[in-house]
Amino acid sequence: MIIVLKPDCTAAQVKSFTDSLTEEYKVKVNTWVGTHSTVLGLIGDTSVIDIEYIAAQDVVDSVKRVQEPYKKANRKFHPDNTVITLPGGQKIGDGNLCIMAGPCSVETEEQICYVAERVKAAGAQFLRGGAFKPRTSPYAFQGLHASGLELLRKAREHTGLPIVTEIMSTAHLPLFEDVDIIQVGARNMQNFELLKELGKLRKPILLKRGLANTIEETLMSAEYIMAGGNEQVILCERGIRTYETYTRNTLDISAVPIFKKLSHLPVIVDPSHASGIASLVEPLAMAAVAAGADGLMIEVHNNPAKALSDGAQSLTPDQFDHVAKRVFAAAKVLKEDM
Ligand code: PEP
Ligand code: MN
Repeated sequence: MIIVLKPDCTAAQVKSFTDSLTEEYKVKVNTWVGTHSTVLGLIGDTSVIDIEYIAAQDVVDSVKRVQEPYKKANRKFHPDNTVITLPGGQKIGDGNLCIMAGPCSVETEEQICYVAERVKAAGAQFLRGGAFKPRTSPYAFQGLHASGLELLRKAREHTGLPIVTEIMSTAHLPLFEDVDIIQVGARNMQNFELLKELGKLRKPILLKRGLANTIEETLMSAEYIMAGGNEQVILCERGIRTYETYTRNTLDISAVPIFKKLSHLPVIVDPSHASGIASLVEPLAMAAVAAGADGLMIEVHNNPAKALSDGAQSLTPDQFDHVAKRVFAAAKVLKEDM
């Protein structure tokens, strides 16, 4: 961290400020006294320093971070890729493409079990399905809640696929005890109290990037979970808000290699929410694989036209068969090419 002090600072003020920094943050401070101003270079763990607090001090002119504010999620301190292994042996981030697929919402036992069978047959290793749905309208289908989780468990028994489902409130945590991967949706990416509670668990958390959040903010949210001791975080790029209205969101494909560069955490892409249009799922999924994603999350519905949520972006099981074949083939070629 570099701190530029105000030109009129006295030597006594510089000393007192420098002493307070070394005492409070246990950092080493290098001081350069110039003709007009004094510059301080802080060496050590500056991730715990609140930059706004420093900027607000009387003696400070400007302050700049030179090191990222996240530590546990940072590849600099953990050069090897994190590989997440589920108790059933399924892996995320081991160099093989993983696919989480299933309906936006769990609707009926027949629906979820049928979709689970079909996505499994196509090669998906995880079943996704929402039981608590974050809908823009309070009048839209909100999900089946606890009974939706029960249906997911049935589909898991039926197929052996681990289940991925979204949590919206800390109050629901007891219901999620035997969920295999807990999803934090885009709208809750900065629900810090929820993130802190998930940090106390020892199970994988799928963290979706917020609708209007930066890459650094996403990594800071991962840091919240990891700071609690839960290091099993999967990042998910699901499109961000831009001025483009043709698609539901704009897939930020460059976020994939950037997340991979800045962090050791696995990165997956959700082309369904990124586009909102079923016919765009295949090209965006292919782009994600080419960009180096560790996995994909894809919405699949037995009858998209009748889906209770996100029908327009949902693939039929037959369409998913085709997309899965293509993305696995692309991933194989890219791996052989390494
Ligand atoms: C979902 O996965 O169904 C969902 C609501 O996604 P997002 O949080 O990315 O909008
Ligand atoms: Mn959805």
